[in-house]
Amino acid sequence: MGITEITVAAYIVASLLFILSLAGLSKHETARSGLTYGMAGMAIALVATIALAVDNIFDLPDYDMHWLPVVLIAGAIVVGAAIGLWRARIVEMTGMPELIALLHSFVGLAAVLIGWNGAIEGAHFDGVAPDDHGAIIGIHAAEVAIGIFIGAVTLTGSIVANLKLSARMKSAPLMLPGKNLINVGSLVAFIVLTGVYVARDVKDDTTGYVLLAVITALALFLGWHLVASIGGGDMPVVISMLNSYSGWAAAASGFLLGNDLLIVTGALVGSSGAYLSYIMCKAMNRSFISVIAGGFGIEAGPADDTDYGEHREIQADGAAELLGDAKSVIITPGYGMAVAQAQYPVADLTAKLRAKGVDVRFGIHPVAGRLPGHMNVLLAEAKLPYDIVMELDEINDDFPETDVVLVIGANDTVNPAAAEDPSSPIAGMPVLEVWNAKDVIVFKRSMAAGYAGVQNPLFFRDNTQMLFGDAKDRVEDIISHL
Ligand code: NDP
Repeated sequence: MGITEITVAAYIVASLLFILSLAGLSKHETARSGLTYGMAGMAIALVATIALAVDNIFDLPDYDMHWLPVVLIAGAIVVGAAIGLWRARIVEMTGMPELIALLHSFVGLAAVLIGWNGAIEGAHFDGVAPDDHGAIIGIHAAEVAIGIFIGAVTLTGSIVANLKLSARMKSAPLMLPGKNLINVGSLVAFIVLTGVYVARDVKDDTTGYVLLAVITALALFLGWHLVASIGGGDMPVVISMLNSYSGWAAAASGFLLGNDLLIVTGALVGSSGAYLSYIMCKAMNRSFISVIAGGFGIEAGPADDTDYGEHREIQADGAAELLGDAKSVIITPGYGMAVAQAQYPVADLTAKLRAKGVDVRFGIHPVAGRLPGHMNVLLAEAKLPYDIVMELDEINDDFPETDVVLVIGANDTVNPAAAEDPSSPIAGMPVLEVWNAKDVIVFKRSMAAGYAGVQNPLFFRDNTQMLFGDAKDRVEDIISHL
């Protein structure tokens, strides 16, 4: 058995491990083993691909510099692995969303480079009958154009997502006049240009490169425009959408490189990302098209000017007293809990209350935080039992029978305007209906709006009290008073 056959076998094993990984990642209990499968699959895939590449290099006849590409591959692995290890070690949990967006942009960049490489190398005809050369050239040209297009959209789209998530760019949507026309026009132009590129005279290199350059520029612009036009509240869909695009970009590269594993892996990432986008759209009660075309989370909506009256404040000792008397407590964490890294004291508080016989549960909104599953990861990190962590649908009807709700660093996901004010920019998004509980304590540092930039009437309700300060410090204060 030669290295090619071993590689095929390794690719099948790696594909199966990736499928097991996705299955594992779909549940808390199996997420850790899911990650292990994924890492094992990736290790096998890397070793097999590198072994095949090195074998191919040494098979090249009339070539006496075999060491050069091997050194280049080794150098790329060392540099890439070093940067990856360094970034992963220093990244804060709150920095994960923008890091992931940046990683998606690398996949996009790789797809663009592979596409251009494919265009420069031209189609290969090994084992192809001369009659079929025309068809192969056409298919290859289409693969090149589509790969570059998806890759370039992913590249700039992910860079904009990274800038928005790290607050280096305003999260408010860019509202260019005729933005839908720009998007549809760019897509139509891409289809026409690809048609021309596929049908061109292959001997005319200059026309081919000019067409590809225009397609690349168009796609870079479209990626930037698509994501820049999407407002803060819709970012969860954008993240999952870019995740999906990065998968399709990888699959397109797989076709160009003739690498089956890349096609399988890309399709897995692409389709799971698409499904995640669907889940995120459902979580926000939005259609995918309206997210792409819409302007959800537009800065100052009419709700911002409304006078909601005075808010009430509570201190840690008062909160401890309320909790001491409570029989049932629901904690709804949000992005602020991640910022404050309050999950550990929250876990201690939960343990303390449960030891006193209080029924404590968590209500997790699907778009809480800045990453799908963000809160679940934090709570798992703090070793909270999974069986008290509930999804929005599972817990929303229980608020009226709840004594105290602790809203820890959440804002948009507990905003009653979404349910009650049709003119609100977040109208229609299902939210955790915390205001139905007997008492609500909101942990945050100021009266500032949440990520979507919308004021929150919850803070002014009669049964709400604000506990100002860093969430971690305030939770620790409560524990010391209990
Ligand atoms: P929000 O982002 O709406 O609000 C977080 C709140 O936390 C802020 O109001 C802030 O108020 C408070 N906060 C920040 N730091 C601290 C701290 N150290 N201590 C205490 N409070 C703090 O949170 P939600 O989780 O409710 O909503 C998530 C939002 O992010 C939604 O709009 C969602 O669409 C969006 N989003 C979600 C993504 C996902 O995939 N989950 C991805 C991208 C965006 P203050 O400054 O006054 O302290």
